[in-house]
Amino acid sequence: MRCSWCGSEEPAMPTVCWPVEGDWAEEWPLCPGCYGEVADEVMIVPGPAYCFGTCQGCDEWFSVRDLSKRTGGGRYSSPVGLCPGCSGGTRT
Ligand SMILES: [Zn+2]
Ligand SMILES: [Zn+2]
Repeated sequence: MRCSWCGSEEPAMPTVCWPVEGDWAEEWPLCPGCYGEVADEVMIVPGPAYCFGTCQGCDEWFSVRDLSKRTGGGRYSSPVGLCPGCSGGTRT
């Protein structure tokens, strides 16, 4: 998939849509970086599986593959876990 803002390519990224008065805007795929910038303004389009979740340590968005100790119930019902940096494994 290709981010509709910055053009970066990822194997999976959240698809979002902007709530527009009286209607729903077009759906856009966004990479985690771009999504994080507008997370308060957009809605994730529900899919068969969530590709991204938030880190409990730093509150950033990561691919669920990078999150350990995943649990549900995060923002927008997305998974919550610990990113590699916050899990202590790769601290420098
Ligand atoms: Zn992007
Ligand atoms: Zn973290």
